[in-house]
Amino acid sequence: MSTVNYNFKPGNQSSKNALPVWRMIQFLFWLVGVCILICLIFFPPIGTLLLWNILIPIAPLLIVVALGVWRNICPLATTNLLPRHFGLSQKKRLSQTQSGKLNLIGVCALYLIVPLRHAIFNTNGPATAALIIIMAVIGFCAGLIYEWKSVWCSGLCPIHPVEKLYGGNVLFSVPNAHCKQCENCVIPCPDSTPNMHPSLTEKTIFHRISAMLIIGGFPGFIWGWFHVPDEVAATTIKSLLSVYKFPFIGFVVTLSAYLIINSLLTKEKRRLLTRIFAASAVSCYYWFRIPSLIGFGKFANDGLLINLKNVLPIWIPYLIVTMLTIFFFIFLVLRKENNFSWVIRPEYAVKKTS
Ligand code: SF4
Repeated sequence: MSTVNYNFKPGNQSSKNALPVWRMIQFLFWLVGVCILICLIFFPPIGTLLLWNILIPIAPLLIVVALGVWRNICPLATTNLLPRHFGLSQKKRLSQTQSGKLNLIGVCALYLIVPLRHAIFNTNGPATAALIIIMAVIGFCAGLIYEWKSVWCSGLCPIHPVEKLYGGNVLFSVPNAHCKQCENCVIPCPDSTPNMHPSLTEKTIFHRISAMLIIGGFPGFIWGWFHVPDEVAATTIKSLLSVYKFPFIGFVVTLSAYLIINSLLTKEKRRLLTRIFAASAVSCYYWFRIPSLIGFGKFANDGLLINLKNVLPIWIPYLIVTMLTIFFFIFLVLRKENNFSWVIRPEYAVKKTS
């Protein structure tokens, strides 16, 4: 598979010319984010459809292929980096241990919040809006104190562990449309490190546990998640907790398999194992998600975008997901690592290596 080289280098003319365009796209996507938030509060059926059944299903594919684009335009990232863009941040730095702890909290948040989609968020627009606002407030306050992406985008954000898992061999790099100069706020910087993956940062025990949990547990967690129906009447603690059962079982099964296989492999082969687990996780997601989007899901109306059940033959969705699975295994496992980072690192303010 060929790769695209747009010749974006730190400080070169292509990068500089591209930045105003990125700013415009960033602003447009920020407006889209605000519109979705307004819909979630005032028109919940539209808001939940836009977020859960259009935006989120596209995100994993975008993360695999062109994660830098997502990192540049994510409305939550734009909000949380506003204090830094407007010179209001105290620009404090995190230690490696603090950074590792944030990574671990991000992974735990992912595993705790995602099952709650079945109990609350998939069907409750205002609750989803509240969740997004809480994340924006946390990230914004962190941005007031800490340097660039260190606390939210490369730390606490629950999507970040998935970015590291899926974004190991992106198709191309784009200019960094947030950091004006690199202040080395995270080492190694996930945005700027070629072929970034979860185990690349093993500086502390927290980083190592985070990597293990996301690589090993995520494929089974996704499988389990798709075996839980949306629980519209989750009014008791028991019904709330029931949404964790299958994701937890799947998580434990694949994590155990990962730990056993990983312990038998050399360091070089472990990277291949990470890629296989990444491809399995994203393939599993689309294996269930595409049929449910078009009316062929396990639970009739859960995650439905448009019902084509009486229009398409049953083999069509399964042909699509088989093709996608083949694509992800070629893209993430068989394809040679291409040395691209998610985004191009801007010029260093001061270079640090540890
Ligand atoms: S490019 Fe530099 S300043 Fe920006 S997030 Fe990465 S390490 Fe931090």
